[in-house]
Amino acid sequence: MCGIVGVYGTPYSFQEVYQGLLLLQHRGQDAAGILSFDFNSKDFHHYKDLGLISDVFSPEILAGFSGQMSIAHTRYATVGPKEGPKNAIDKKRDIQPMMINYPFGIGMVHNGNIVNYFQLKKYLQEEKARHLFTQSDLEALINLLSDGLSERSKSAFSFDQFQMAIQGIFDKAHGGFSVVGLLADKGLFAFRDPHGLRPLILGERALTEDEKAAHPKHFGKSYILASESNALNFLGYDVVRDLEPGEILFINDTGEVFSSTSYSKLKKIPQKSCMFEWVYFANPESVLEKRSVYSARLDFGMNLASEIQVLIDEGKISPDIVVPIPETSRVAAISLSETLKIPYREVLIKNRYIQRSFILNTQESRNRAVQLKLTAIASEIRGKNVLLVDDSIVRGTTSKRIIEMVKEAGAREVYFASTCPPIRNPCYYGIDFPDPKELVASDRTVEEVAKYLGADRLIYLSEEGMKKSIGKESLCMACINGNYPVDVSAATEFLDMRSLHRE
Ligand code: SF4
Repeated sequence: MCGIVGVYGTPYSFQEVYQGLLLLQHRGQDAAGILSFDFNSKDFHHYKDLGLISDVFSPEILAGFSGQMSIAHTRYATVGPKEGPKNAIDKKRDIQPMMINYPFGIGMVHNGNIVNYFQLKKYLQEEKARHLFTQSDLEALINLLSDGLSERSKSAFSFDQFQMAIQGIFDKAHGGFSVVGLLADKGLFAFRDPHGLRPLILGERALTEDEKAAHPKHFGKSYILASESNALNFLGYDVVRDLEPGEILFINDTGEVFSSTSYSKLKKIPQKSCMFEWVYFANPESVLEKRSVYSARLDFGMNLASEIQVLIDEGKISPDIVVPIPETSRVAAISLSETLKIPYREVLIKNRYIQRSFILNTQESRNRAVQLKLTAIASEIRGKNVLLVDDSIVRGTTSKRIIEMVKEAGAREVYFASTCPPIRNPCYYGIDFPDPKELVASDRTVEEVAKYLGADRLIYLSEEGMKKSIGKESLCMACINGNYPVDVSAATEFLDMRSLHRE
């Protein structure tokens, strides 16, 4: 999963994508980059590096940018070179944005994953004589676009040609992806995979008098495309709408917006938004597909509480306190505690300087992070039956260690509630749990997972409870139920290559 943002219109577009990116830092912490295009000088400006956004971009580096059109990316690697200092050069190679000079000059960022990336790479090398330099699927996408536009753009550029080139990508690339890009001197573009697995939202605002004076050829507005609406809110943009699944959008040099959604309609492709955005990834302030992340999480807690109430009524558990595992589960734990009328206690204290452990890339770094990131207030736990609430259980590393910690603090019984049903299958669309061996629930029953974790009872929200909480039927839940919306026949090669790269 990654965060992407593109801004077109304001002469301060590079500053806005930087600020917007900071709001999306939770979506990826490996690397960051910005690419801007200046319509006055006809120059690109480009900088990217490994690390957190604020570490990558100093005020001096930001001062080197100019331009009315910029794109930016914060990276969370799911495929690519393994960890370690020896691989820093290879890791740098995969950082976005990426560029290609022909035709026009194209820059792109994306969020997601292409399942058949290795087949596409082979196709581009063997049939199109293109050599790919990185292990990033974005490089395959940008080469496909370059190839599609090269075939069609012998005459003047048009949206129809552009649309056909992107539809060519939809035909060839299978996966979940949202893309924002720019065409030098022509405009900003975006597209979303035909199932709409990964989010992308469009916003606009009027330019200020100061901005109009700074760029006399302005078109009176500035547009933004971003992974989440929190970036729009922060930068003062009005939400226009989520891009539709399979939508292709182009904003030209006079500010005219062209859009096409014909591909997914022609092919009758159902929407399948990733449920994990509401469970874990998205910022609680964001609204995805018109559904507030915060209020979906409140409903996770409420619906999970109804399922827990049955166990309480049957005398199987008797929690004294509800304890959130910081940070993501806090909202759900509040509503769960209110619904069950059991006191809510924040007795696990987080060291805020440790990164989210799930997003770290190696087991060793995750173990280390779990040990460092939480401490328990024993005086509030001793002798009590504790109901822990977490957003999800992926590998079980964090959950197991926390249950141990709460027991060591003197809890009588520890129950564990997850706002996500058991994750039993790999995700091939951009979330980093692709290997079934890494998933604690992949080959265990609920009772076996509880035993493995050391919990006296484990309660997962049901699939129905999840759909009810998000308020949508049209969700991807493949990691839960194995119903993959996009062809994963190339997945074996993907898994093999990924573990080869990582281990
Ligand atoms: S498989 Fe799971 S994590 Fe992956 S896109 Fe589908 S719901 Fe999201």
